[in-house]
Amino acid sequence: MTNRLNEIKNVTLMGPGPSTVPKEIYEAIAKPTLGHMDPRFIEIMDLIKTYLQKIFNTENKCTIPMSGTGSAGMETCFVNLIEKGDKVLVLINGVFGTRMEDVAKRLGADVDTLEFDWGTSVVVEDVKKKLDSNHYNMIAVVHAETSTGVLNPVEKIAELLKGKNSLLLVDAVTSLGGVEVNVDAWGIDAIYSGTQKCLSCPPGISPISFSDRALQKLKHRKTKVPNWYLDLSMIIQYWENSAGGSTRSYHHTAPINMLYATYQALRLILDEGLDNVYKRHLEMHKILAKELDALGLSFLVDEGCRLPQLNAMKLPEGIDEAKIRTKLLVEDGIEIGGGLGPLAGKVWRIGLMGHTAREENIKNLIVALKKYL
Ligand code: PLP
Repeated sequence: MTNRLNEIKNVTLMGPGPSTVPKEIYEAIAKPTLGHMDPRFIEIMDLIKTYLQKIFNTENKCTIPMSGTGSAGMETCFVNLIEKGDKVLVLINGVFGTRMEDVAKRLGADVDTLEFDWGTSVVVEDVKKKLDSNHYNMIAVVHAETSTGVLNPVEKIAELLKGKNSLLLVDAVTSLGGVEVNVDAWGIDAIYSGTQKCLSCPPGISPISFSDRALQKLKHRKTKVPNWYLDLSMIIQYWENSAGGSTRSYHHTAPINMLYATYQALRLILDEGLDNVYKRHLEMHKILAKELDALGLSFLVDEGCRLPQLNAMKLPEGIDEAKIRTKLLVEDGIEIGGGLGPLAGKVWRIGLMGHTAREENIKNLIVALKKYL
């Protein structure tokens, strides 16, 4: 019987995620699986929480890696913090804003939206006007909109909420580890991310953080959290108490080896230094932008709100974009992304996330693109 895994070759992942995984992380995954109550594993769990606090810039005790991809983090935030009839404002300028709207509506929230053109940023003044005349239990926004390459002004949106009794929920799936995310200083109440973007891990874990205010909302719910698997009030009992593991209670079997990978990924970032990591993303983005400009490709997004880690490029007239992406993948071993939703067939999404954000990857991509453009 042939083993398909033997046919898998290395691909440089330069799309919207997953990103390229460094060898240290593969080595971490290959370590022996321990039991989920093994004291040695519990030490690793505690370290993951501490590392995540550093990367989220928070002292929130409830800062943990949820089992599941970024969407599990999104659902975790909504199912724990929303009850039927709660008023939620979702700021939408891309696919992942619309996904938040869908998730909130499924929970019976009274959802209002403020929409902005895809490829442009959320306009803070418009949010202010909306908040001046309405009260919301929660405002939800995507920090780094992966579908368009836009960085939304979360810090300024958070400013508008100071003194208001509204929770701020932020999607940091693509922003965490790529650009500054400052949970405590900005005043974010709930945030989620994913391992497969700027953390450069395989997909499968969604780091989240809840503020004390968010935990109060959870504690005083009138109704049970409608999703058993993602109920934080139970999950916290597994992730808290470090007394040798004896006082922790089992909720679900932790994805042990994926948590080894997360542990290793966080260590790599902290060893490099968060500021150096942000700087590297920005520098690589500038190099890529210059090279793409020389090839005649232009950005979808204005310079002021571009994501360094996700570059959405308008496509030249008359090219068969899907064919070029296939050639890049098959002949050059490089993956880039196509457009999502209304941007399908209109843009390429070139990722410089995490370990992918390196000059040699940019060089190889440009050499390959020159053959096809
Ligand atoms: N939010 C954003 C901004 C994303 O880019 C993604 C995935 O690309 C998600 C949420 C969903 O994450 P996942 O596909 O890991 O479930």
